[in-house]
Amino acid sequence: MKKMLLLVFICTGLNASPQKLSATEKKILDAVNKQLPQTFKTLEEIVNINSGTMNVAGVRASGEILRTAFEKIGFVAEWIKMPDSIKTAGHLVATKKGGKGKKILMLAHLDTVFEPDMPSNPFRIINDSTATGQGILDDKGGAVLVLAALEAMHQAGALKDANITVYLTGDEEIGGMPSVVTRADVIEKAKQHDVALSFEGGQINKVTTTRRGADNWRLFVYGKQAHSSGVFSEKAGFGAIYEAVRIVDSFRTGLSAIPYLTFNPGVFAGGTTVIDSVDNVKVYGKDNIIASKTTVMGDVRFLGEKQRAEVRTLMKNIVMNNNLTGTSAEIVFNDGIPSMGPKEGNKKLFLEINKVNADMGLGAVLENDPMERGAGDISFIADYIPCIDGLGPSGTGSHAPGETMNTKQYPLLIQRAAVFIYRLGIKKDL
Ligand SMILES: [Zn+2]
Repeated sequence: MKKMLLLVFICTGLNASPQKLSATEKKILDAVNKQLPQTFKTLEEIVNINSGTMNVAGVRASGEILRTAFEKIGFVAEWIKMPDSIKTAGHLVATKKGGKGKKILMLAHLDTVFEPDMPSNPFRIINDSTATGQGILDDKGGAVLVLAALEAMHQAGALKDANITVYLTGDEEIGGMPSVVTRADVIEKAKQHDVALSFEGGQINKVTTTRRGADNWRLFVYGKQAHSSGVFSEKAGFGAIYEAVRIVDSFRTGLSAIPYLTFNPGVFAGGTTVIDSVDNVKVYGKDNIIASKTTVMGDVRFLGEKQRAEVRTLMKNIVMNNNLTGTSAEIVFNDGIPSMGPKEGNKKLFLEINKVNADMGLGAVLENDPMERGAGDISFIADYIPCIDGLGPSGTGSHAPGETMNTKQYPLLIQRAAVFIYRLGIKKDL
């Protein structure tokens, strides 16, 4: 009963002051409000299905609910399957082809970080502006927001000419590894669209136009195994640990002031034997033997592909030059998630959404600081198409057990998304 009362409150308690909207846009806002009880019902249903990335059946089940709903409003939906070796659910893609509209790619994801063996957190309303549940913010609320915005456009007769592809990934929370396989299809689709909008966690007055990318690196350092009493001598050398310390500290002193760049050594292992495997390192050694090998594992986060290339060169220079006596070193970089670098097209989308906000009476929109945003699915396509992220629901604590979503702002964010999509669709150029 409490929930019903809340929904009634939500249904009647909003609408900014939309002075500058067209008749169709006003119809869209009304349609969002009218369908809110159904929107929250779908959200509850999907949140209550566990869809941890590795829970293939759960990801598929939540996707199937959305597939049915998208088909009802004229989309053609299909699963993009992954090879068996990858063991994830694949991606749900719903497409609507129109006549003249701009081609819009919309992204959200079906999976969450919560696997079935972790404590459950069913959908629950906490107060008149907050609900909790696994993935309610990241990113089931985003997927349902996309659906609700398109349903409202459909109700208002504003979807007819739209060319829209909704792309709901099933493995965002593991970074889509290996991305050469899992992101090949979305990259192809991005090239066939005009703009991309991503519905990861958002705010009414902030969007994301840039995101840092993330790679990892492994540093291998070699020295001569010898009695510790000879350390620093020409014959025995300094050993692999001193050299690795020199390198890591030179990274810090030489590169840590570069804007938007961070790099962190997460594991540092040195001794006489270091056994490296994909995700860990085993080490043996003695306090009276000069270390012959050291491995350091770390990440590097960067803004834009130019910075990505530059930092690799700088780090390699430190690794290859000025090695301490009797040592040598090499560094290997592994591609992780690319960066959503600053781009003119993204800026134009930012200006467009500012206009929507202003016309809806929602106040100005600012750009998120890239330092505050992690990597996301949008990054894989950011090099190919103008894009913007942070259009999803607002809330707190994503990836944490008590994750919440702001239920008061949610309808406004659905309305804003719908008006934004509608305007982009009928716009000739960006
Ligand atoms: Zn997410």
